Amino acid sequence: MSWLYSKSPRVGNGYDVHALKEGLPMWLCGVRIPSEKGFVAHSDGDVAIHALCDALLGAAALGDIGLHFPDSDPKFKGIDSKKLLAEVVSMLEYDIVNVDITIALQEPKLRPYIDQMRETLAGIMGIDKGQVSVKATTTERLGFVGRGEGCEVWATVLLMGKED
Ligand code: MG
Repeated sequence: MSWLYSKSPRVGNGYDVHALKEGLPMWLCGVRIPSEKGFVAHSDGDVAIHALCDALLGAAALGDIGLHFPDSDPKFKGIDSKKLLAEVVSMLEYDIVNVDITIALQEPKLRPYIDQMRETLAGIMGIDKGQVSVKATTTERLGFVGRGEGCEVWATVLLMGKED
């Protein structure tokens, strides 16, 4: 790998959507959110961790979450997405500079859980809470998010070549 590629900062973005259904658990950023609806998924449905994994993999040009953890594989059925994130972080040959996540969800309000989400993600990635931003927005009742049919998440990360 040339110096340029091994030492330059690398940006990555990730995006994921999961449908909401009554009676299922809602996990976001590794935190269980009290809610009447949860995510329909092969894994635990943590749509925020999935977007984050894709951003990390994207920054490192290592493919996407579906490539590494195919939902056709029974091994990943109901899997805790925190394990997927730890696995992705272990693949990286870069340090994580910062992470910024935006969650679009109509309800419940996520403000009370944001700090715990940041701490949880930072702990898994082995970085400081100050390097992890989690933001939440509604879509003013517009679209599938606004109708409470699903949740949409965008993640952006910056990686740096590891110090020798
Ligand atoms: Mg997903």
